[in-house]
Amino acid sequence: MMRNDNCMFIGLTGGIGSGKSTVTSYLKSKDYIVIDADVLSKTVVEPGEKAYFDIVAEFGESILNGDGSINRKQLGDIIFQDEVQRKKLNEIVHPEVRRLMMELLHEFSFHNSIVFADIPLLIESDLMSTFDAIWLVYAAEDICLERIMKRDGISREDALLRIRAQMAIDEKKIVSDLILYNTADVEFLFRQIDEALILSINK
Ligand code: ATP
Repeated sequence: MMRNDNCMFIGLTGGIGSGKSTVTSYLKSKDYIVIDADVLSKTVVEPGEKAYFDIVAEFGESILNGDGSINRKQLGDIIFQDEVQRKKLNEIVHPEVRRLMMELLHEFSFHNSIVFADIPLLIESDLMSTFDAIWLVYAAEDICLERIMKRDGISREDALLRIRAQMAIDEKKIVSDLILYNTADVEFLFRQIDEALILSINK
């Protein structure tokens, strides 16, 4: 696929509740392009898309809503406790997300000096090598815990389960090129982003 080599691809990741959305909102407010992997994973399963037909073939029409769209909640319940089913779903959805991600990255590369992609499970995925740099939005586990309890109105136990379902954020630090410390107020975070942008643009 054609790509503008003067454009940098930056992958943004973090842990659950570490502050990815806070970072992407800030970048968007400064007119940077941020591709959202969660949005792509919804787009690729819309009726008529390849993954849509593959999911219906695999899981049956009982996982459809009345309007023919996929009932994500129902599908989520099926794969939640069943690793085999989860693997099947991922094998359908991931290649399509990857394909669309590459398409968009390359398209945007012709009109932008940096294109960001917000990918919660970037380090766990096979997309790492696509990016020129990985930026990690970091906060220690106990801070993430407090933030998601407050944001989602859930108990400490539930928040901990969600955190523990992912790779430990301290492990993600090791493979990241830049760490944005979201450990104080948002101004502290935004200042680091400004500095990182200046360094990236002058590269
Ligand atoms: P998820 O992975 O669950 O989508 P996320 O990494 O996108 O989470 P955010 O939604 O940006 O994280 O942040 C989690 C919560 O913490 C939000 O309610 C957000 O407003 C709050 N938050 C983020 N950064 C700070 C900060 N520096 N100080 C106080 N609250 C913060």
